[in-house]
Amino acid sequence: MNLILLGPPGAGKGTQAQFIVKKYNYFQLSSGDLLRDEIKKKTTLGKRIVKIMPQGELITDEIVNVLLKQTISTPENKNRIIFDGYPRNISQAENLEQVLKEDNQVIGSVIFLNVSREIIKKRIMGRIVCVKCNVILNEFFNKAEIDSHQCGKKYLKKRDDDNHQTVITRYNTYMEKTKPLIDFYLSKESFYEIDASLKIEVIKAKIDKILNV
Ligand code: AMP
Repeated sequence: MNLILLGPPGAGKGTQAQFIVKKYNYFQLSSGDLLRDEIKKKTTLGKRIVKIMPQGELITDEIVNVLLKQTISTPENKNRIIFDGYPRNISQAENLEQVLKEDNQVIGSVIFLNVSREIIKKRIMGRIVCVKCNVILNEFFNKAEIDSHQCGKKYLKKRDDDNHQTVITRYNTYMEKTKPLIDFYLSKESFYEIDASLKIEVIKAKIDKILNV
């Protein structure tokens, strides 16, 4: 069954999704990664979104919904998708329900990673991502891993939108548009809240428990 990871930017959705993929053979569908990929490849879509993304604003539902539909409906991914960064608002959640229904798929669980704005700032400001293997590290917390990273340090880059001003915009957008999804899913799906200020390993263990039920 599919899984939704919900939470503010910097809550650790990507990091936890990578663990779940490895351990439970899920497919990670990160809407942010798909959009960044369009920019990297300089597609027509990429040229449209390159102006919006670094500002921390949401890309239009129309673009995101179309971009994700193909991956959701790919037979190999069926009922084994972790949604990371999608849906981001009620309209996307309604679209997701519709797309999954048409494809005979279901949402198994929604896991909400809850964390304060102060912690988010520190995490995002220190975040670096390997452009080769996609691993997510943090300059403040993973000094040793950064020095010994298998792909080489030169591949570890900061994201364009991980700066002070954008963090505030992204957090405010989350509070206004994405947080209402908690009420949307609370009554509908198996909903779990995890304190995402805890250590990565502790959060991982809590997710393990949920997935092993
Ligand atoms: P993320 O990688 O999830 O932190 O997303 C980075 C940026 O990509 C966001 O600040 C938005 O500009 C854009 N984005 C990612 N996912 C979505 C989505 N589901 N809807 C709209 N914009 C998105």
